[in-house]
Amino acid sequence: MRKIIAAFLLSVLSPLAFAQKGFKVVPLGVKGGTADGNLSAYMLAPAGSDAYVCLDAGTVSNGIDKAIGKNAFDVNAETVLRKYIKGYLISHPHLDHISGMIINSVDDTVKQVYAMEHCISVMKAHYFNWQSWPNLTNDGNAPALNKFRYQPMRENVETPVVGTEMTVRAFPLIHSRPYLSTAFLIKSGESYALYFGDTGPDSVEKTDHMQCVWTVVAPLVKSDQLKGVFLEVSYPDAQPDRQLYGHLTPKWFMKEFGVLAELAGKEHLKNLNVVVTHIKPTGNNEETIRRELNAENALGLRLIFPEQGVKFELK
Ligand SMILES: [Zn+2]
Ligand SMILES: [Zn+2]
Repeated sequence: MRKIIAAFLLSVLSPLAFAQKGFKVVPLGVKGGTADGNLSAYMLAPAGSDAYVCLDAGTVSNGIDKAIGKNAFDVNAETVLRKYIKGYLISHPHLDHISGMIINSVDDTVKQVYAMEHCISVMKAHYFNWQSWPNLTNDGNAPALNKFRYQPMRENVETPVVGTEMTVRAFPLIHSRPYLSTAFLIKSGESYALYFGDTGPDSVEKTDHMQCVWTVVAPLVKSDQLKGVFLEVSYPDAQPDRQLYGHLTPKWFMKEFGVLAELAGKEHLKNLNVVVTHIKPTGNNEETIRRELNAENALGLRLIFPEQGVKFELK
């Protein structure tokens, strides 16, 4: 009888535990410019796993040191870089999203670098070409030293993240025409996380790229499977639309979530975890952006302002 009760409890409780699983995040860098020791890079792993993928890689070793200082890891920096980070997802090839990965590549281990073709072609031609930096990748100018392996991603094709329990899909974004960026939808079990690289608002960029991403994730918001969204805000609302350079302000950020609210139903966005990335720390921008976002948050999003090295959960 006890066995039957135990089996019954397990069958009732385990799907619940599964549904809540989610992710953990260690931000290695959080700012959108000028702070050259603290640029966009977020380590993401399924809850309970130390097999991470790094979402962009503007700052790597400086962020790992900060994270160890804040007790995000109980191993040394070498182990985090070489063993915990299993691969890199690169949204676009701007230096504030990739320089940490390049600079640390000599000390790094064999890894996959996942990116769309528009990004890989720049890495090949301009960074890992022996002129800017030794070619530690598997392609491009000879000799190719074959440490980093390019994994070209096609739109909306699910790809396993080697060495982890996660898979990823990529979607193109417009980051000031004609330049492209990428959104990544990461899946672990039944949980999802959505990471946007730098992006302009659809109506300023005259496109529907963000809307396409919102359409894909709307059902996951309804079913409570989307555990968090990383989206950028680079400038305060005072920045004129003609000077956005492919970025968002608090007003545009909330307008974009308004599109998701229409697709998924407003009630499902209340308390949705939203990580605010890429604030450009000029003058009082950080304080202003935080104030404006909180004032304009009629949807009741759970806004997370990440700090370098401070671990948090998305569940
Ligand atoms: Zn950037
Ligand atoms: Zn950029």
